[in-house]
Amino acid sequence: MQVQTTFKKDTPILYLVATPIGNLDDMSLRAIEVLKAVDFIYAEDTRTSQKLMKYHQILTPLKSFHEHNEEAKANDVIRRLTAGRNVALISDAGSPLISDPGESLVKKVREKGYSVSAIPGPTAVITALTASNLMTAPFTFIGFLPQKEKAKQDTIKQYMAAPETLIFYESPHRIHKTLQAMYEILGDREICIARELTKIYETFIHMRLSEHENLPPLKGEIVLIVEGAPKQETLSPHDMIEHVALLIADGESEMQAIKTVAKLRQLKKNTVYMAYQNHKKT
Ligand code: SAM
Repeated sequence: MQVQTTFKKDTPILYLVATPIGNLDDMSLRAIEVLKAVDFIYAEDTRTSQKLMKYHQILTPLKSFHEHNEEAKANDVIRRLTAGRNVALISDAGSPLISDPGESLVKKVREKGYSVSAIPGPTAVITALTASNLMTAPFTFIGFLPQKEKAKQDTIKQYMAAPETLIFYESPHRIHKTLQAMYEILGDREICIARELTKIYETFIHMRLSEHENLPPLKGEIVLIVEGAPKQETLSPHDMIEHVALLIADGESEMQAIKTVAKLRQLKKNTVYMAYQNHKKT
């Protein structure tokens, strides 16, 4: 057990500071205060963050920290904490670590016994979900899907029986193919495409997956929110059998497909096995 009482002792802190996802005014007073007070700010792209620093008159030195130098820079951060300095991590936009670098840094800093504190603020996932008109809890944040079609489809399949709202980050170049794959795998569901949040062209598109062919080309940054599996779908034996058949058609052996379906639907393997064998006899 490790208990961190962040502000009760005078030890250095790594602050994870959320920054705007478009509108530079979406910066909390505390986020500005912390960024002004720390000794160094590690940023994904120092040129991008420079605009934010200038806008809020933050003069703290910026250091680079991105996915390709995370390991080396983590040691750098630990050296500074050891020297008694406070450090902040920011990403280009939104919350650090949310589909952005920082996870292994946080792990290392905690291992060394230093405090880690998050300064809350904008993140596209919550901003989109809040205004999506879809169920806000429970939800699963998946982030970016794999780019290769087969891997993408496999990931979508993992969630076909999930009853909770599903949230994805997606690029405008891939959204059409992704929606088609989702329609084929998940069936017709309500979705919301949240585009360019907090920016001048902010748009919410509420539609069903069956309408995917009518979606015009899109530009800008996108969050895709998908309604969870309907309740009866998760429970119906018919869907369970269809799920097995779909995995078999996709190349899995019968036993493997039965195992996968049992695991995903949290059922006994034998229940799925018997249902599928009975179905084969009909
Ligand atoms: N750390 C960020 C956060 O907390 O949301 C996410 C960073 S991730 C590298 C960038 C992706 O987040 C974009 O491709 C898009 O899917 C989503 N995103 C970021 N800003 C957005 C915005 N203003 N509107 C819609 N989606 C956005």
